[in-house]
Amino acid sequence: MRITETIHAFKHPFRLALGEGQYADRSVYSYLLIGDTICLIDTGVSSTSLLLQGYLKEIGRSPDEISLVLLTHAHPDHIGGCLAIKEVSSSLVYAHSADKPWIENVERQYQERPIPNFFELVGGSVVVNRELKEGDIVSWDKGKTIRVLETPGHSPGSISFFYEKERILFTGDAVPAVGTLPIYVNPQTSIESIRKLQKLSLVKHLLSSWHEPMSGDQVHATMEEGIHYIQKIDEIVTDLNKTIPPETSGAELGLRALERLGIKTNKILPMVRTTFESHRKK
Ligand SMILES: [Zn+2]
Repeated sequence: MRITETIHAFKHPFRLALGEGQYADRSVYSYLLIGDTICLIDTGVSSTSLLLQGYLKEIGRSPDEISLVLLTHAHPDHIGGCLAIKEVSSSLVYAHSADKPWIENVERQYQERPIPNFFELVGGSVVVNRELKEGDIVSWDKGKTIRVLETPGHSPGSISFFYEKERILFTGDAVPAVGTLPIYVNPQTSIESIRKLQKLSLVKHLLSSWHEPMSGDQVHATMEEGIHYIQKIDEIVTDLNKTIPPETSGAELGLRALERLGIKTNKILPMVRTTFESHRKK
């Protein structure tokens, strides 16, 4: 999907295993910046890498023209296709230092953040060629740069990218999508990160991994909704903490909170349990 002359969005459909034959259908966006060379922001999962490469051919370009992969963070649906891209191109990979260990050692990520079909989603480990930090300016094509903003909360090393020339903001998973499974490790830093993004002026397009591409007034409203969602979860967990025994497991707490959010499930992945437990740690 073409967003502007330079920017294309590509949606990767995938299945997230919940265990015991149960799956949740999910999707994630990655973004292509097309110039003399090509920059890819997040890679989607390994199984959709060929689809992404096919899309590039459809628009008259070639996967081997990808010279740079920018990763917003280390999670499987963002790094899963990275190895496949490296195999068809000589692209460099940039990411934040805090998420680097999980990108360079996916077995370790699987141990520390287990997802049943992790290795269906992730092709393998890749080396991070440059560690990005707040304020870094990355040159992705001749005369074209993108600015790095640290936006932790969803993961410690979550970063956003601002393509100032066209006022386009790429946020990865930093802004939660209302009504979907909330996934973050720190609610307070998540909110602070979104507030920081809201301060950027004249953002024309918000290109998140979870939401459909947004523009105009939707940009600020989507960020505001994301903050309210985290605050609502905080209220729910605070309320549950008053009524359930302190020894109640994180999984049970999470399931009860999800019910109050109107999300029906009888399975809770460790990464979602972590979200609700993070509200208990304040
Ligand atoms: Zn993520």
